[in-house]
Amino acid sequence: MAIAYVYDGTLYLAVTRRCTLACTFCPKVHGRWVVAGNDMSHDREPTVDELLAAARALMPSVPSKRAAFVGLGEPTMCLDVLVPVGRALRAEGFHVRLVTDGLANLRAGADVTAQLEGAVDEVSVSLNAPDGETYARVCPSKYGAAAHEAVCAFVGAVKPHVPSVLASVVTAPGVDVEATRVLAKHLGVPLRERPYFDPRLGEPHESR
Ligand code: SF4
Repeated sequence: MAIAYVYDGTLYLAVTRRCTLACTFCPKVHGRWVVAGNDMSHDREPTVDELLAAARALMPSVPSKRAAFVGLGEPTMCLDVLVPVGRALRAEGFHVRLVTDGLANLRAGADVTAQLEGAVDEVSVSLNAPDGETYARVCPSKYGAAAHEAVCAFVGAVKPHVPSVLASVVTAPGVDVEATRVLAKHLGVPLRERPYFDPRLGEPHESR
């Protein structure tokens, strides 16, 4: 079971399999835990030392020196691991990207974005919808439609702390991608489209 793996020239790090959301397009939600040939179903979250050891073992395979914290699982649920590992990788010359649901502040009930300063170079926030209703349908959680507003607020909150922030949208059925692009523009970040795959059939990478 993998806590780190290399895919398409990037070192991917998995700090947890827990999530705030249950996205309809996520293979995990449909019982599929294999990503790029790696079994991500481990339920024990790695320590800083374990994750760094796994990362260092793979570094010779990553000449591009690009790393990413990504699911299956929401990395910011384990900031105590993400932050020191991100800082260590950056100190070794890696460009570190974080793919996040943008709900860390809502979960914490406080602004935790300053913790990311120095730990990541780029944050990709999964916006995934132009409005709260669509978001709650595509990315359901206990927060309902209010979660979308929190994601938008997170985009603004994290900007002062990391060099680069962007938003992403999965082109899932029923999602108005162009309206999501307008929202991203309003938030002052570029929007990256992620193609939708039927989560019951394949194992898309970075699906959110
Ligand atoms: S797409 Fe990401 S945030 Fe959504 S349920 Fe899957 S791992 Fe969690």
